[in-house]
Amino acid sequence: MKSQFPYLVDLSITDFCDKHCPWCYRNSESFEENKHASQSYIFLLADILKESLVFDIVIGGGEPTLYKSKYASLSHILGHFYDNKFNVSLTTKNFLWHKDKDFKRSVEKLHSVAISVASLDDIKKAKILSKHITKNASHVVNISCQIILGVVPYDEFKKMINSLKRTGFNISIVGYKNTGRGNSFTPHVYDKEWVKLIKSSRLFVSVDSVIVKDWKQELLNSDVNEIVLTGSEGEQTCFIDAVNQKICPSSFSDQLFDFPISYKTKKDDFLKVYQSF
Ligand code: SF4
Repeated sequence: MKSQFPYLVDLSITDFCDKHCPWCYRNSESFEENKHASQSYIFLLADILKESLVFDIVIGGGEPTLYKSKYASLSHILGHFYDNKFNVSLTTKNFLWHKDKDFKRSVEKLHSVAISVASLDDIKKAKILSKHITKNASHVVNISCQIILGVVPYDEFKKMINSLKRTGFNISIVGYKNTGRGNSFTPHVYDKEWVKLIKSSRLFVSVDSVIVKDWKQELLNSDVNEIVLTGSEGEQTCFIDAVNQKICPSSFSDQLFDFPISYKTKKDDFLKVYQSF
């Protein structure tokens, strides 16, 4: 059922990323021209979201840790949301983020970090990054690993899950999306064994709406009390592309609504667009 306001907003602050993943459904590019959102747009948006009673904000991209603007660093952006009492999360695949001079200031403003992994080697690097996050934050930051289902062969996925069992990370499994470069990459097809594997791992797992849509029965049949099932995208959450100033039900939706912001923009303008999808 559609909520009066989204409790969670997924916010892209940049289309820039240096990882070149062939399955990138956001089509993120490694050239920076016009790829970063303006700081003023993000700050005005934060005020509108606060008024609209949004509670959770998930900062992503592109690669959000490589965000650049003339007037604000990533820690300024995160700090603005944090100071306005948002629950702030960030998704990254920048395993060298801890070398950034803004790193400590940024992790101090975060409640959780999801590290994207697509190989055993990525998991090793994620472990190192997680140690730096824990060491540099003066509070507990929830750290999880995010895996896109189907980007590696099943044997590799199995090894990754077994490796993650030894880390204590929570896992987030997200469905494969056919937008952007995801449209030209052929994902690996898994059978329902992957659900049993997850169940037997005893890891705490959350899955996105794409997984729920494609695997709901298998998830329910396996009596997955450790798995958190989410509702449909756009019902209680939405995606805002701050680079291109658009709102959509999800980051892979083809329903795009223009959302330019000025000082005159009010929460009712935002809620009206949210209610329209
Ligand atoms: S999938 Fe993520 S890490 Fe890979 S290119 Fe896209 S934004 Fe970067």
